[in-house]
Amino acid sequence: MKGEGAERDRLLKEIAKCRACRFCVDVCPTYQASGGVESYCAYGRLQITKYLLNGTLAFDDALTYCLYSCLQCRRCEVMCKSKGQNLDICDILGRGRRLLSQRLAEEGNDAKL
Ligand code: SF4
Ligand code: SF4
Repeated sequence: MKGEGAERDRLLKEIAKCRACRFCVDVCPTYQASGGVESYCAYGRLQITKYLLNGTLAFDDALTYCLYSCLQCRRCEVMCKSKGQNLDICDILGRGRRLLSQRLAEEGNDAKL
């Protein structure tokens, strides 16, 4: 897809601003509901998005569920911004999901999403 590489690079650059401080973890309702699984908080979802975008990880059902179970409630984002890290987490996750969905559709795997 034309422009995919540029958008992927923009997203990876934004994700790289995450300082792994984990201030966003405890406020996340899906992290709480999971009983403390880091893949279900903003920090974990950003890392999963990064590794899927750069090809380190391949899509599977568990990773797909991690990304799509985000409620987009922005509690993590408020915490991230209040601590001075300033990531637009929901925007990054939304754009990442869109890009990865397009990639899968082009590869003929759209049934997975
Ligand atoms: S609060 Fe922001 S900078 Fe810190 S781990 Fe979470 S997303 Fe990354
Ligand atoms: S927007 Fe997603 S990652 Fe952030 S606190 Fe809400 S459910 Fe968790």
